[in-house]
Amino acid sequence: MKCKKCGNKAVIKLRAHRIALCREDFLSFVLNRVQQTIKRYKLFVAKERVVVAVSGGKDSLTLFDILQRLGYPVEGFHIDLGIDGFSNRAREAVEVFFAKREAPLHIRFLREEVGAGMREIASQVRRPLCSLCGLMRRYIMNRFAWEKRFSALATGHNLDDEGAALLGNLMRWQIGYLARQAPVLPAIYPRLAKKAKPLALLSEREVLAYCILRAIEYHDEQCPYAKGATSRSNKEALNLLEYYSPGSKIRFYQEFLKHQGIFPDSASHDLRECSMCGFLTNRETCQFCEILEQYTGSPVPVRDSETGKG
Ligand code: AMP
Ligand code: ZN
Repeated sequence: MKCKKCGNKAVIKLRAHRIALCREDFLSFVLNRVQQTIKRYKLFVAKERVVVAVSGGKDSLTLFDILQRLGYPVEGFHIDLGIDGFSNRAREAVEVFFAKREAPLHIRFLREEVGAGMREIASQVRRPLCSLCGLMRRYIMNRFAWEKRFSALATGHNLDDEGAALLGNLMRWQIGYLARQAPVLPAIYPRLAKKAKPLALLSEREVLAYCILRAIEYHDEQCPYAKGATSRSNKEALNLLEYYSPGSKIRFYQEFLKHQGIFPDSASHDLRECSMCGFLTNRETCQFCEILEQYTGSPVPVRDSETGKG
């Protein structure tokens, strides 16, 4: 198998793109793909302040590596969720990765923010752990991005993640979500950073291959409480279609993006300040504060240096 670009020995075959590439040409292919995604979908421009949410997994560390190589002045943000040994190992992977690079890393500990780890909170609150964790992570990320005045918050979601989410939304005809499922979600309010997914056009396999070829040491461990059954079965379904018809995954996602305008956005943009923490919500009290209240049994003012509340 020869590289389509240079004729040297290929290390990977990309059936979706009908090419095989050598190491160097594959690494450039990945960088170009991310640069194209950033430009085509207007994720951010060169001078914007971008923070990358790094979990320690292959996707987010790869994303950071790529954005840095493309010359974006990125910073990293990690949340230690306080889950038994799992969170320690995730944080260590992040710390080792950043120790080798010249880039700022910011870490927040859930235990310091709210006085407990994710499992303890979940044991007191009536909500599945994964959805609770997602909600608390989003709150902490959004709030961090705003407090530090970043204009964009980038996450490591790849094509398999986005395709699976799209399939899930279509299977349940959750039309309202479709309008908001894009590589960029604009800041709908001055205090919200926009959300960017620069890996959205790269499959999980492509991201993994890049990560291995660059010898990035990532945290390769599933959260002990992860279920994720729906997204896993949707990913498997898409992989089956991809197997029989290479390129169907990227077509499914990119063709959707072309027609996305036809789906109405049903999300409430009617945001106001949470009565407890002062951050944004479309209710009287935000869900994050509600969870903390359920956990402790009494209102918990969240520390806040910016709004003067709490
Ligand atoms: P997940 O929902 O676990 O698939 O994660 C999606 C994205 O959220 C990752 O690619 C990261 O960019 C970000 N992320 C997940 N967990 C963390 C964490 N503990 N700290 C910072 N960012 C995270
Ligand atoms: Zn709140």
